[in-house]
Amino acid sequence: MTDPNNSSNNSTLRSWLKVPANSDFPIQNIPFGICSTEGHHPRPCTRIGNHVIDLEALSDADLLNDLGIDNAVFSAPTLNPLMKHGKAGIRQLRQRIMELFRSDNGFLQERTTLVEKVVLPKDQVSMHLPVQVGDYTDFYSSREHATNVGTMFRGAENALMPNWLHLPVGYHGRASSIVVSGTAIQRPMGQMRPNPEEPPVFGPSKQLDIELETAFITFEGRPLGERIDVDEAEDFIFGMVLFNDWSARDIQAWEYVPLGPFLGKSFGSSMSPWIVTMDALEPFRTKGPAQDPTPLPYLRHSGEHSFDITLEAALIPNNAEETVICRTNFKHLYWSMAQQLAHHTVNGCNVRAGDVMASGTISGPTPESFGSLLELSWRGTKPLTLKDGSERKFLEDGDTVVIRGHCERDGLRIGFGEVRGEILPAR
Ligand code: MN
Repeated sequence: MTDPNNSSNNSTLRSWLKVPANSDFPIQNIPFGICSTEGHHPRPCTRIGNHVIDLEALSDADLLNDLGIDNAVFSAPTLNPLMKHGKAGIRQLRQRIMELFRSDNGFLQERTTLVEKVVLPKDQVSMHLPVQVGDYTDFYSSREHATNVGTMFRGAENALMPNWLHLPVGYHGRASSIVVSGTAIQRPMGQMRPNPEEPPVFGPSKQLDIELETAFITFEGRPLGERIDVDEAEDFIFGMVLFNDWSARDIQAWEYVPLGPFLGKSFGSSMSPWIVTMDALEPFRTKGPAQDPTPLPYLRHSGEHSFDITLEAALIPNNAEETVICRTNFKHLYWSMAQQLAHHTVNGCNVRAGDVMASGTISGPTPESFGSLLELSWRGTKPLTLKDGSERKFLEDGDTVVIRGHCERDGLRIGFGEVRGEILPAR
């Protein structure tokens, strides 16, 4: 699997920029995001350690102009134009950035005036949503999550629906309410039916929840009517982010029959600002769970198509100490991203650069690895005790949730940073 053209596989590479120990962003990562500084418009950037690297400034210095990438993409307010260059273009760009910042290359390092323009301290930039999201699809690919939720609502015998082991179940979500990490989330108002013997009521959701997920961002896919084969699907994936798919369980439970999730989901989803490329994640490939029954041929792939990504969620009550409420791993997911994308396009549906495909809640096999409060508190029957002594079945106003994720193997750590959001009272 080691690709000699992928410098992310070289764990000995070091940067002349200082990288703190245990940073998610060594020179092997080179993720992509959109940043702005005071008085200057949002533009593409990358990150090494706690330094944000302004790609517009690198481009203005003619250091990116021989890559066959149109310079205008480095001044764009989203990564979508850059992503039109596909996997090969992004790989070349990452290689160039690594070259400029590797410790044995003095070229940029010695040009201190230029370095001041290019290298920005993290606390002086604002991060924005990295892509303009055209479409958002949410899968449901954790067997443990689907089994837990199915057990709660239908009993252990009928926990998994008959289709679940045959196809990656998903639904079309709402793209307009995807927000970048740090954006506050307002508790939604809605219709629910807390007492099945009584008529429905209207009010603020009382069962506001998190969903610990990752998402992948697509490159431009094939034209409408053409499918993406499972074996080529990974070439159409730009990279991954952390994703909190906030959910109002009481609204969801009442509205979802028969067409699926709607207003209980569409009030907000939070995304981490740095898109970590598939090239950077390559060293952390691993096998997913064995699939039995064998999927239909269009979903069949051999080799390793999962990734060993350690994930955690923490809850921080109003200005209090944080409590880690979940520790899980991406590798537990039953359906791979390649299978999700092959399934998504098997009917000829076209995907576009900047589409977001979320994993679904990532629960593991043990109770502390459940990726939602619905499961952690078992539908409110087992409240969690936080470090400040307070209890939670679901989220309260003023609660902040942080999801973090990273990979680590043979001394190389590649991470995502975090996705964070605070709950504001309903309006
Ligand atoms: Mn979800």
